[in-house]
Amino acid sequence: MNAVLINLLYIASSILFIFGIKMLGSADTARRGNRLSSIGMLVAVVATLMYLGLDWGMVVGGIALGAIIGAVASIRVKMTGMPELVALFNGVGGLASLFVGAAEYVKLRDNGTAEYLVQLQAQSGVVVPGWFVMVAIGLTVLIGGVTFTGSLVAYGKLSGKLSGTPTLFPGQKALSFLVTAAALVGIVLMSLGTDNQTAFVAGLILVVLALALGILMTLPIGGGDMPVVISLLNSLSGVAASMAGFIILNNVLVVAGCLVGASGIILTMIMCKSMNRTIANVLFSGFGATTQAAGEVQGEMKASSAEDAFYVLEAAQSVVFIPGYGMAVAQAQHVVKELAGILENNGAEVRFAIHPVAGRMPGHMNVLLAEADVPFEQLCEMDQVNPIIGTVDVAIVIGANDVVNPAALNDPGSPIYGMPIINAHEAKTVYCLKRGKGAGFSGLENALFFGENTRMLYGDAKATVTAVVAQFGK
Ligand code: NDP
Repeated sequence: MNAVLINLLYIASSILFIFGIKMLGSADTARRGNRLSSIGMLVAVVATLMYLGLDWGMVVGGIALGAIIGAVASIRVKMTGMPELVALFNGVGGLASLFVGAAEYVKLRDNGTAEYLVQLQAQSGVVVPGWFVMVAIGLTVLIGGVTFTGSLVAYGKLSGKLSGTPTLFPGQKALSFLVTAAALVGIVLMSLGTDNQTAFVAGLILVVLALALGILMTLPIGGGDMPVVISLLNSLSGVAASMAGFIILNNVLVVAGCLVGASGIILTMIMCKSMNRTIANVLFSGFGATTQAAGEVQGEMKASSAEDAFYVLEAAQSVVFIPGYGMAVAQAQHVVKELAGILENNGAEVRFAIHPVAGRMPGHMNVLLAEADVPFEQLCEMDQVNPIIGTVDVAIVIGANDVVNPAALNDPGSPIYGMPIINAHEAKTVYCLKRGKGAGFSGLENALFFGENTRMLYGDAKATVTAVVAQFGK
């Protein structure tokens, strides 16, 4: 009876997860979707607590400790530090899966395979062979270990604690291949002789290889590509959790792990597509290791002032804001929203054009603008704004660089050639807000800044927009 009830609750929580994730697809329903998924998780936790023979002290202590660490980290993190926090959370998810695998292996050795399988059947009602459990344990340890150390390196690179430059050495790919092959051989050895000494030694070596592989795979990837890597590692942490679900035959862990695994890999692919790169290119090309040769850019950058921008904006009938990573760094979103309001009251049609990879994480700009209460109707996707941008009076580029770089359209030699961009250069007048001549994530020169119709507003984006707003108040 207990097992039936627990499984029914697991089905209920799986349904809540699925609807929760679906609701994350739209800004209108995202918050409710998040709440629904949290309720799903609560139901799953309550159902798991109904298992007989749990060590309540450990469970309650673990939940309390995790909740305190999670709450403090989430409250203290700045918006720009979010990818780092997600990297750490992914990493501990992988570590937890590794521990589940290791703990089940210890249990299996202590009780003997036959007794372990009888217990598993009594608990779950499912009969599985010993080799299946060992393969599941092996894969959980391997994927969990890779996720753990890979995420730690990703955290280090994003937070600046490790160099963001790809670390490359001769024979690196061959070494990674050998370590992967050795780990897979270890899993086969474990599954062949479940109880014997060889399986035990293979298991120990597997842990070391898994941890080493996570580092080997992540070190050659540049700091700027870390968000993609984090999304991939997030997907892997889901796969590891799902594998852990197969070991302990826990349905909700299998379902939740698969959801995380599938959504993580879809997000990874979307990010790669938006940068016009393949996942293999992100993982193996060492992008960012050398300074890329930029095409010759003609012309000069023309500095302007808040006063000059005021006169042009006051007369504008249509304005498009194009935010990028610099807006996040400057935390300029609130004052940008204020300027947008002023322009609207002045009779201009105002839009925000959002590039899918603007910033450093998916949805980065949407999150910032939502935080500043920019109306959802003012947000336009790249495909909506590009056809009309030639008719726009003023495009205001706020700390964006790569996502408005025309080299992506017209320089076949450029590393970003083929990446879809927002065609800011086609607007009648372009104001670009940045602190100086700093390059974007790709390290490339940007012809937009040298355009005939472009004016540069140098300085921190928040200070610059504040100065323009002040001009309207005079
Ligand atoms: P970029 O990184 O191309 O450019 C940001 C610009 O902001 C810089 O040129 C910098 O110039 C300026 N800047 C920095 N701080 C400030 C500040 N305080 N005030 C004003 N300006 C500032 O950003 P984009 O958003 O255009 O492009 C994102 C890049 O990141 C793309 O190449 C994308 O592929 C990549 N990427 C994005 C991911 C995502 O999920 N969104 C994931 C992985 C990679 P200066 O120093 O002169 O101020």
